[in-house]
Amino acid sequence: MRLKKRSTFVLSHPTDILSALVGLKDVRVLSYVRSGPVVELVIEQDPIKPNCPSCGSRAHVKERPLVRYVDLPVYGRPMTLTWKKHRMACVSPECEKNSFVLGDHRIAAKNCLLTTRAAKWATEQVGTGRTVLEVARELGCDWHTVNDAVTTYGEALIAADRKRLTKTRAIGLDETSFVRRAGFVTDYATTVADVANHRIIEVLPSRSYVEVARWVHDQPVGWRAEIRYGALDMSATYAAVYSVTLPKAVQVVDPFHVIALANRALDAIRRRVQSETLGHRGRKNDPLYRIRRVLLMGQEKLDAKGSERLSSLLALGDPDGYVAIAYRVKERLREFYRAPDPQSASEMLTELIEHCVKRSMPPELKRLGRTLERWFDKICAYHQERITNGPTESINNLIKRIKRIGFGFRNFENYRIRVLLYAGKPNWRVLGSIVVT
Ligand SMILES: [Zn+2]
Repeated sequence: MRLKKRSTFVLSHPTDILSALVGLKDVRVLSYVRSGPVVELVIEQDPIKPNCPSCGSRAHVKERPLVRYVDLPVYGRPMTLTWKKHRMACVSPECEKNSFVLGDHRIAAKNCLLTTRAAKWATEQVGTGRTVLEVARELGCDWHTVNDAVTTYGEALIAADRKRLTKTRAIGLDETSFVRRAGFVTDYATTVADVANHRIIEVLPSRSYVEVARWVHDQPVGWRAEIRYGALDMSATYAAVYSVTLPKAVQVVDPFHVIALANRALDAIRRRVQSETLGHRGRKNDPLYRIRRVLLMGQEKLDAKGSERLSSLLALGDPDGYVAIAYRVKERLREFYRAPDPQSASEMLTELIEHCVKRSMPPELKRLGRTLERWFDKICAYHQERITNGPTESINNLIKRIKRIGFGFRNFENYRIRVLLYAGKPNWRVLGSIVVT
């Protein structure tokens, strides 16, 4: 329910506001001010007499600094929580620690500019799909403040949420890249997906055999023993990881990547024919350029008019019919995935490969044919158990979305946390009990 913005506060006593807004017994509200669009709540804690954390001597109050935190909005207005803290000084003249500030993780974690409850709320908002910028606007603070808090609490949640590694029959390894804004360096990461349960389990900072194999090897024996299928792109590295760490798992090449490969061959032929026939790269009115997207779409998505346009523009721009051949190869590969049984699927793929590697075929299709041949068993394995298609593709889409909403990660760990919050289906209830000191 959304409260009206003009709501007046009828809380009669500061402690009511306290119990509603802070909820901690030893915290007192000193004032509660609304000036213009900003609400400010000033609190302090009952004085305690701590000993010096360094030497254990007594300590006395030295200063009362006011520290401001971004809190949850009240009735749609950003709120600042101002905390009148206690800066303590050690009485021992020999002690090297001359002062320390008393904190309370229930109110705000050290080095976090958001209150604990605002930080947890922001983490859940961002984790379930809102952008950092949207959340920052709602809280009335800047992007970095929210991003830092989400990273801190997200990391704690991911570490505490041990049940993410549930037993599964199928996992998937996928290479993803993320670009750091500073220096535009491209880094590669490996996502490990629980394909059967549609979630990303882990993101590893590398695509190397050693690191990926080590991760799989380090997982509980019981978990590894359950895995019967390993999905992968056509990467020799990941195939080797499975062969060594999960030798009993059937390796299945993800259909998404097979179709993408055929699409790339088709697009390369289209571009080559275009420049060979016209002597330049694709321009707006060139027949092949006009159908570049339609070619990559599934044929069944075209209506009668669309099909007619496709064949007439092909007739204009593709005099030798190479683009049309590549288009039919791509469509045939898509049909392979709809084959009724493993036997006919395997026959279809054999025929298609023989067709692609014929001497008369363009080099791009020969190369495609050889790749399909090399991965033949692992491509056909899809038909044993149709385990990969939807899930991995939706996970790929998730990763793309994560890149869009959080481009320019300063480091790998931030990227990892965002991916796992968004696509790892963490148990959000664990967040409530997370303590960040
Ligand atoms: Zn001391």
